[in-house]
Amino acid sequence: MAAIGRFQKGDDIFYAKVVDGELFKLKGDVFGSPSFQKRATNPKGIKTLTPVAPSKVIAVGLNYADHARESGKALPKTPLFWLKAPTSLIPDGGKIEIPFQDHRVDYEAELAIVIGRRMRNVTANAAARYIFGYTSAQDISDRTIQKAESQWARAKSFDTFTPLGPYVETKIDPHKLTIQLFQNGQLRQNSLTGQLIFNCFELVSFISTNITLLPGDVILTGTPSGVGPIQSGDKLEVRIQGMSPLVNTVK
Ligand code: MG
Repeated sequence: MAAIGRFQKGDDIFYAKVVDGELFKLKGDVFGSPSFQKRATNPKGIKTLTPVAPSKVIAVGLNYADHARESGKALPKTPLFWLKAPTSLIPDGGKIEIPFQDHRVDYEAELAIVIGRRMRNVTANAAARYIFGYTSAQDISDRTIQKAESQWARAKSFDTFTPLGPYVETKIDPHKLTIQLFQNGQLRQNSLTGQLIFNCFELVSFISTNITLLPGDVILTGTPSGVGPIQSGDKLEVRIQGMSPLVNTVK
């Protein structure tokens, strides 16, 4: 497999492999051993959904040293994570809505991990076998609320606050990728996933010692430095090497 997406045509919701813009519809369990239709599906009239429908979205904070520095926070000794509501997810092309116009709301480009197998107490060395693939995400954050409260779930769980996709890349080395965010064509964040303090395998291992992870669950790995506020009308683009860009606008 390579790039896997989730799509809708009428009432039909399906997974498909994406090759040069053509869709090869998947049969069977996407996390098992699926087969693909020989004939490509015409993408016209087909809506792109988030690439998975997770039972939970877990976000990791302060996982790039330069972002911890710009936030004025000390680096955590173990991964710092919280839950984002799955209802905050939107797909590529979806619109981000700012709930309170007088609040500061920021973009945060992040590499996302998608789990492929039920996972509990798995070591970092074995973790790769439990990962389905990787995709692009944003951890949109209401900083006004985040600064005022000690728990971050509310600041980061508003509807539309987790753009994800467009596809899951199943054959990619997650620690050798450039990660960038463009706001209206201007480069705002520019880093390397090799700079992650806790790498993808360490993160999912640590989380699995606390919470059972299920196929399709999504883990956001943290954002690099360069976060900044968004405004109505903005076009935001996450570009991670080897992936299709994740493009969203602000309503
Ligand atoms: Mg974040």
